Amino acid sequence: MNNALYNFPVPENEPVLEYLKGSTERTLLDKELIRQENVEIEIPLIIGGREIKTGNTGRVNIPHRHGHVLATYHKAGEKEVKMAIDAAMEASKMWSDITWTTRASILLKAAELMSKKYRSLLNAATMLGQSKNIYQSEIDAVCETIDFLKYNVAFAGRIYEFQPKSTFNQLNRMEFRPLEGFIFAVSPFNFTSIASNLNMAPVMMGNTTVWKPATTALLSNYYLMKIFNEAGLPGGVINFIPGSGALIGKHVMSSYHMAGIHFTGSNNTFNTLWNQAASNLVNYKSYPRLVGETGGKDFIFAHPSAQTTELAVAAIRGAFEYQGQKCSAASRMYVPSSIWNETRDMMISMAEEINTGDVKDPSNFMNAVIDEKAFDLITSYVEYAKNSNEAKILTGGTYDKSEGYFIRPTIIETNNPHFKTMEEEIFGPVLTVYVYDDKDIERAVELCDTTSPYGLTGAVFSQDRLAAINICNKLRYAAGNFYINDKPTGAIVGLQPFGGSRASGTNDKAGGAFNLVRWVNPRTIKETFIPATEYRYPYMMEPRNPSPRGLGGEGNELASSR
Ligand code: NAD
Repeated sequence: MNNALYNFPVPENEPVLEYLKGSTERTLLDKELIRQENVEIEIPLIIGGREIKTGNTGRVNIPHRHGHVLATYHKAGEKEVKMAIDAAMEASKMWSDITWTTRASILLKAAELMSKKYRSLLNAATMLGQSKNIYQSEIDAVCETIDFLKYNVAFAGRIYEFQPKSTFNQLNRMEFRPLEGFIFAVSPFNFTSIASNLNMAPVMMGNTTVWKPATTALLSNYYLMKIFNEAGLPGGVINFIPGSGALIGKHVMSSYHMAGIHFTGSNNTFNTLWNQAASNLVNYKSYPRLVGETGGKDFIFAHPSAQTTELAVAAIRGAFEYQGQKCSAASRMYVPSSIWNETRDMMISMAEEINTGDVKDPSNFMNAVIDEKAFDLITSYVEYAKNSNEAKILTGGTYDKSEGYFIRPTIIETNNPHFKTMEEEIFGPVLTVYVYDDKDIERAVELCDTTSPYGLTGAVFSQDRLAAINICNKLRYAAGNFYINDKPTGAIVGLQPFGGSRASGTNDKAGGAFNLVRWVNPRTIKETFIPATEYRYPYMMEPRNPSPRGLGGEGNELASSR
């Protein structure tokens, strides 16, 4: 038996490779893209380690060439949801009893497999299935997935080593039990790394999961499952059940054993799950932990001292990388009139330079939005702006879904700080700018704080340090991730713990101890070495009332009301 007290060091972040033409990584990736484009795979459910095909199927298409089918997937029905819950419950004793270093070694092996053997596989699947260019895929599917795995191992050790003091005739310990039941992991389409982490964070702490992946990210998510299994994850620890969210959600949420939700996605879905949890409350064995990261209406606030080139580049990258489909994407901007003309001209010229198209063409900064539903919703906002006399489209505003779901990067200027596109999450390549009079900066900061219900990310650009700090203080609750002179996207695990509050979620900061703590159910164990043999307090036993039984351990008790 290995009884070492092991501490995993805080890891280095996975290096982002460059994929220059002719490099080894580029050659391997190009080959893998062609391979994946030319096979149509079948994606089964994976329950208790077994592949299950229900025959009720759907298709996985390439968003930038939607006629191209990458895979057929099988959908779970009520029976398979029950099987997945049973499998998760059956695996939970084995998984929670296994040493935590064994669990850690599986996560670390998965990270190593992703870094070396399966780097191009995960990148190609994310590029084709979720329409990400090489860089966007590399930072997500490879680097962030690996960072989540490695950092969670290191932070788990910090949690396990946290122990109470033992003193006066006693030994005190904390046992970090997993939750009593299974975790429902529900993942969004936009980050392969989030899909991995929603499962692997609770799994690291000894929990098992029932995983509902997003239908539009199934290719990469299926390969994640295969890699976890190759890394040694026993069957039943994660149970992969694609299918209808509403159907799966309804059955999972009514299970007696549902101990927690680990969710990332839209507000509507999280609100539905929360309401279901509330209405099933009396049926659960324990109060479930509800952890959810939801929408954003992320901002860039420019002070009159802002450097205009830096501001324009941050706006373009922050708003249009991955077609604006990051929860952190800049989608509203406040610029003082004194620097607006210069900033606007640069932004327009950069946005017009952007090429949009296939992920395999490296000159494309942008690719397609995820599916037709998203395309129709995003373009409805663009049309709304076109038809309003409170807004004008400075650039973009055009779109085409004949071959792929392409929308040109669109910048709207409005004279109404409460214009619809300043307030609502659009989740596409649309940035709205409100120009304020320099002398009204206090009001503009106030507007920035109060305009949208979200509180995820935000940035201030200012050369004036005191002004930057002042704005940072005033916008204290407007963003859980606040940037000074940087775009509001691109948080890195371990460096900028991520999450927001208000309508943006429970702010449990994925990728660190704050999140992992939600997946443990601590038990305090006190052992008393010499138990008391007398119920009376010492002062009651002064000469008048000598103890018939003599003094026991009571003289060593610490005062307590509990
Ligand atoms: P979504 O809510 O449409 O879907 C998320 C997941 O929920 C999918 O797997 C979906 O199938 C499932 N689902 C849908 N209805 C369900 C139900 N009734 N019961 C159970 N599951 C159900 O979100 P999306 O379009 O995949 O992702 C985009 C959203 O995610 C945006 O709002 C974005 O801001 C948010 N997001 C937030 C963060 C963050 O960290 N705050 C990160 C990424 C994405």
